[in-house]
Amino acid sequence: MTNLLQRVCVDCFPTRVRLISRGVKCPSACVTCDDPHEDSYHLFFHCKIAIDVLNAVNVWHLIAPYLNQFDNASYITFNLLQKLYASQVENVVTIMWSIWKSLNLKLWQQVSESTVTIMERAKHLLKGWKKANRNRVLQVRFTYLRIQVLKSMMVRLRTTSTVMLDGGNQGVVG
Ligand SMILES: [Zn+2]
Repeated sequence: MTNLLQRVCVDCFPTRVRLISRGVKCPSACVTCDDPHEDSYHLFFHCKIAIDVLNAVNVWHLIAPYLNQFDNASYITFNLLQKLYASQVENVVTIMWSIWKSLNLKLWQQVSESTVTIMERAKHLLKGWKKANRNRVLQVRFTYLRIQVLKSMMVRLRTTSTVMLDGGNQGVVG
């Protein structure tokens, strides 16, 4: 996800327009809708399927105002990152990733997906990502707890051995 965001933000997403500018010979039309100019802006904020999916997950209204201000995917994404809540950014980014995945499936495997499929894959990714992060937090907590337990055990051991030593000394002295 971070990789995808970085690519959009620095405008180096390997869209057809981008590939052509780098000397790759390929058509410039959008794989999904045949619009003549497949760049990041078209792919994520202009293509019908993208708008349908973003509408369906109820985030299009958050993006639409920026389209009047910018016609560049980098600026739009950058502004979204600054203005939206973290949970909204997560939704938008996973949808963008799923749209990109769908486009590649259509290009390489001639698979046409519905908006529901694109949405479901994004939801699934987000769920897995949150679970992985929660596990990481739990692991950190668990390690912290283990350290605390070990520390208290060490303290107890030290105290016990001191008492035993003291007791022994007393025994010797006595
Ligand atoms: Zn399109």
